Amino acid sequence: MIKKAVIFLGPPGAGKGTLSAVCEKEFNWKHLSTGNVCREHILNKTDLGQEIASLISQGKLVPDQIIMQMIEMWIVTHQYNLDGIIFDGTPRTVEQSVFVDKMLEVQFRNFETLIIKFEVDEDVLMNRIESRVVCGNKDCQRVYSTQSGNSLQSKQLMKCDVCNHDLVHRPDDSRETLKKRLDVYYQHEKDMLQYYKDQGRKILVVNAQDPVDQVFKNIKHISNC
Ligand code: AMP
Repeated sequence: MIKKAVIFLGPPGAGKGTLSAVCEKEFNWKHLSTGNVCREHILNKTDLGQEIASLISQGKLVPDQIIMQMIEMWIVTHQYNLDGIIFDGTPRTVEQSVFVDKMLEVQFRNFETLIIKFEVDEDVLMNRIESRVVCGNKDCQRVYSTQSGNSLQSKQLMKCDVCNHDLVHRPDDSRETLKKRLDVYYQHEKDMLQYYKDQGRKILVVNAQDPVDQVFKNIKHISNC
């Protein structure tokens, strides 16, 4: 099987984290979420965590230099025995896209690179984010929904199915902050899509409003896995 480096592009609430977890399990890929790394720093109260906490709670982006260091550090520690790598929610700016491309060229030259864009209507994103809860264990951070009948509901109320830790609402998952995050996201997405187009890169698209298992099937199909 050809090794893959997959970039998941999509707004907050599009399901990138959820699908990353499914791909990790099904394909034995590893998943880099810079959002998770940022939250780890905040929970560990590192100097960096204190520096970025207020940016994140206001829905702003963390500076490129900090994110690029996180990506580099993650790759250095995880680059061995990888069948695939998913970039979840990163890159988020053109500068980060250029950086990730360079990293892929140097570290993952034998990997096939795919860019998958998750498309979801804004009202669906709002509903998802308002009912989203995550595992508060920094080493887990699995995503759940409190919406009844949703396949992402936890088995036990507000407890993680995997590690039994309490589930929490993310402080940046409020309606107001989401509006800001979406504005910031789409503003940069436009530039990133132009960058990839200029590079002659193909963008694969999935309808991320479908149920999780259907989105997974589509990802599997378009990425030839
Ligand atoms: P996420 O969990 O991907 O929604 O990220 C949560 C927050 O972390 C974002 O709203 C940003 O403030 C910050 N963040 C995560 N990844 C990046 C990135 N690649 N570039 C800039 N900021 C990021």
